[in-house]
Amino acid sequence: MESILIVDDDLNLCQVLSDELREVGYTTEFCTNADDAITFLSDKKVDLLLLDLKMPEKDGFYVLSKLIELAYPLKTVVLTAYADVKSAIEAARMGAVDFISKPYDFDELLITIRKVLQKDS
Ligand SMILES: [Mg+2]
Repeated sequence: MESILIVDDDLNLCQVLSDELREVGYTTEFCTNADDAITFLSDKKVDLLLLDLKMPEKDGFYVLSKLIELAYPLKTVVLTAYADVKSAIEAARMGAVDFISKPYDFDELLITIRKVLQKDS
């Protein structure tokens, strides 16, 4: 069973998305800030990271830069505000493999997740 870590400052989104992903068979965990995410990842491995770019204080770019610094290979899909193409491009430059617009459509999100998980890293 593949595991997914959701990182988003919106607790409600974390809970809803976590439940939705569990229903289709994934193991999920979530963190609502960047520091918790880094701490979590220093301890446990996951197959995929779903990362919100916009978070107060330390944002998704901070998490991406930390992963680069730690040379931590992790398939990352970023969650961005609708049509924030500039952020998505910047995230891709920092190693994100795909992005999903918020508010997300669960079926589209699932297609993206499956596609990314199937890719060789
Ligand atoms: Mg946010």
